[in-house]
Amino acid sequence: AADPVACDLLVLGAGPGGYAAAFRAADLGLNTVLVERYPTLGGVCLNVGCIPSKALLHTAQISAEVKALAAHGISFGEAQIDLNKLRAFKSGVIAKLTGGLAQMAKARKVQVINGVGEFTGPHQLAVQAEAGQVRQVKFKHAIIAAGSQSIPLPFMPADPRIVDSTGALELRQMPQRMLVIGGGIIGLEMATVYSALGAQVDIVEMSDTLMAGADRDLVKVWEKFNAPRFGQIMLKTKTVQAEAKNDGIHVSFEGAQAPSSAQCYDLVLLAVGRKPNGHQVGADKAGVQVNERGFILVDQQQRTNVPHIFAIGDIVGQPMLAHKAVHEGHIAAEVAAGQKAYFDAYQIPSVAYTDPEVAWTGKTEAQCQAAGIQYGKAVFPWAASGRAIANGRDEGLTKLIFDQTTHRVIGGGIVGTSAGDLIGELCLAIEMGADAADIGKTIHPHPTLSESIGLAAELFEGVCTDLP
Ligand code: FAD
Repeated sequence: AADPVACDLLVLGAGPGGYAAAFRAADLGLNTVLVERYPTLGGVCLNVGCIPSKALLHTAQISAEVKALAAHGISFGEAQIDLNKLRAFKSGVIAKLTGGLAQMAKARKVQVINGVGEFTGPHQLAVQAEAGQVRQVKFKHAIIAAGSQSIPLPFMPADPRIVDSTGALELRQMPQRMLVIGGGIIGLEMATVYSALGAQVDIVEMSDTLMAGADRDLVKVWEKFNAPRFGQIMLKTKTVQAEAKNDGIHVSFEGAQAPSSAQCYDLVLLAVGRKPNGHQVGADKAGVQVNERGFILVDQQQRTNVPHIFAIGDIVGQPMLAHKAVHEGHIAAEVAAGQKAYFDAYQIPSVAYTDPEVAWTGKTEAQCQAAGIQYGKAVFPWAASGRAIANGRDEGLTKLIFDQTTHRVIGGGIVGTSAGDLIGELCLAIEMGADAADIGKTIHPHPTLSESIGLAAELFEGVCTDLP
């Protein structure tokens, strides 16, 4: 057996939370070991999540825009899709980023150990490599960053035509008819990709809205724009049975918008949510409490009930987002290194990188209403934005939510092209405690979509604005 390794800090899992924590800890002088079961660093986000989905969405977005140019007098021929090349492009993007992470780990002298890690005691973890050897790691502090996995539906047969997001991102085949089960961000992003590549996509969602969590006014804009693109969008409806046959997967539905008979699909994507990996790391052997859903409970310093063991990212709770994992990773590493950091973010942005994009941060209107917060809002319609009109994409809107008394911005949402990039300004404004006048009096470049944020703030202030 290989010699045991001793370290100041063990990080279990090399997703965005884990690698961010390991790098920060190493920068702060801790001797750090990073354990990962897969051969590449980056976790779900880089390998089978954020990055590959965006590589495909970018391609899908451009191809949709190219088609839309016909209305501007420029037409191209029918798209020729080479799935092998598209796959190779996506794999190249992943390889570049995961390779970069490996170099960054090396430069910081973070020791990466490949294998499945399991705690064997409060200061000890066993790593099982693929070849069967077991390596012991002894640590002073540990950070659990073992992430999450997609939730299966029990009645779904095992069939290569039924996939989760990882399978859908592999782009093994181009279906004619596809069903996306789950109208959350991941489901809608994949629906966008496959529909742009030519599939007829149906979406089924159990609740009464797509993109739960976003305010209705934003989602409505998305729905209106996308209704012609998709087949059926079935809300308040669920799948109850699926049968794999030669000609496809036959799916039966129940609910408000259920078709009267089973529908046949070439590809079915399960995107009904993700569950944390808390029960898969031997946490009990280290004395770390995991709740029945698999989440590890932590305090504002990311500490578990065992003071020298921290947890971060998807495994500690919602929202399951990479930027939240990174932020928590930094906090845990800093606290492990003796600093007095703690989690005190006012906002965590969410973005659906669909077409158009939908982005929101801070408090939503629905949250303000539920919590009885006295708020005011201003909505700037992109139909009044010179840039949006020039882009031929003026369906969007920018909404700011203010504290009614202080006029400080406490939330906001944007639907429209590049909403995910635009929301960054609101994230900063909320964290800096900016009020409507701060935002409205900030000179924004003209003509840009970012102007819509300044103009919304002016509307709230009651300033009569010359629209661009
Ligand atoms: P993960 O990324 O899940 O990493 C955990 C790592 O731990 C994995 O590499 C795993 O192999 C390893 N591991 C687990 N158990 C063990 C063990 N016992 N031993 C060794 N290693 C182990 N988020 C965004 O912010 N923006 C997006 O655009 C976005 N798009 C997404 C698209 C898709 C299709 C999916 C599925 C997710 C997306 N997410 C997105 C969510 C994002 O990927 C996660 O929130 C993020 O990866 C969580 O980071 P993490 O470090 O907590 O865990």
